[in-house]
Amino acid sequence: MTEIFDDLEGMRAEFNDALSGTETPEALQQVKVLFLGKKGKLTSWLKNLGSLPPEERPRAGEAVNSLRDDFESRLADRRVFLEERQSSEVERRSGLDVTLPARGRTWGGIHPVAQLMHDVVEILAGLGFSVALGPEIEDDFHNFEALNIPASHPARDMQDTFYFPDGHLLRTHTSPVQVRSMLAHGAPLRIACPGKVYRKDSDPTHSPMFNQLEGLLVEKDISVADMKGCLEVLMEGIFARPLKARYRGSYFPFTEPSLELDIECVECSGKNPSCRICKGTGWLEVAGLGMVHPNVLRSGGIDPEVFNGFAWGIGLDRLAMLKYGLTDLRVLFDGNVPYLLSGRTFSC
Ligand SMILES: [Zn+2]
Repeated sequence: MTEIFDDLEGMRAEFNDALSGTETPEALQQVKVLFLGKKGKLTSWLKNLGSLPPEERPRAGEAVNSLRDDFESRLADRRVFLEERQSSEVERRSGLDVTLPARGRTWGGIHPVAQLMHDVVEILAGLGFSVALGPEIEDDFHNFEALNIPASHPARDMQDTFYFPDGHLLRTHTSPVQVRSMLAHGAPLRIACPGKVYRKDSDPTHSPMFNQLEGLLVEKDISVADMKGCLEVLMEGIFARPLKARYRGSYFPFTEPSLELDIECVECSGKNPSCRICKGTGWLEVAGLGMVHPNVLRSGGIDPEVFNGFAWGIGLDRLAMLKYGLTDLRVLFDGNVPYLLSGRTFSC
């Protein structure tokens, strides 16, 4: 009886040697066939059980079955080991390490200026305005001449313009769109013209390219009070609360009279003498505006004896800084997503 178990232990040692030498699934299969196949060593040994004396058969059968179970389980373990080793080898060769922690996901968002442009257009749409767009490369007529800025006019010195060799230019304001819209549609007219404009200016508070939004309303019997009402509704909509407003006399060639609109400081409402936003004045300059000059109406093919109206221009970048609490104009153009989205959710 002892010899039987010696035989089985010898087979276990033989199996162990064969198993530990396997390096591929194919080699593993060969070991399986060698010991557990139809003509395998353990299978053949099972067939010999019948030659044992009857009293020895149960224990011997039990020992053989136990050894077969052990072989099968060790073969399965070895298969898993080889498969894992193979896949980690593939990962190593491809430079992929699945055990590294995942990178955080960065969500995009609407740019503050685009968000504000969308908000302003929404507010103006509620007042009956439509959006009008125009080319960024303009000609002298639409950018200057038709806006009451003739070639000899000193106002041209106020705007350092990017000219092309052929006399075309990068528009210095969105006002040319007013002229194009008046010529195309006539009066009455209510349009909002958002877009990029260009001037030779670059420092912490000026960028050579910036975003403006121009508004124009031409109807009959329009007064300065209508203009003020419209701008105050707009500012209240942008900042989501009523804000005190004040108007200062100003000069633009294309409006008469011309005004500048200041609103109460959105940060301190004039209560903080060392406010970083208003510099302690309590007021923020937000728009240039005025009643449309009769010459501009004439350039647009509209009779100033019948119609009048008002126009304004706001700087969307500066307003976005105020609304979202940004401190440096240049970050709006740097594409610094974490800064632009810091603590804010923009929606469209
Ligand atoms: Zn302030």
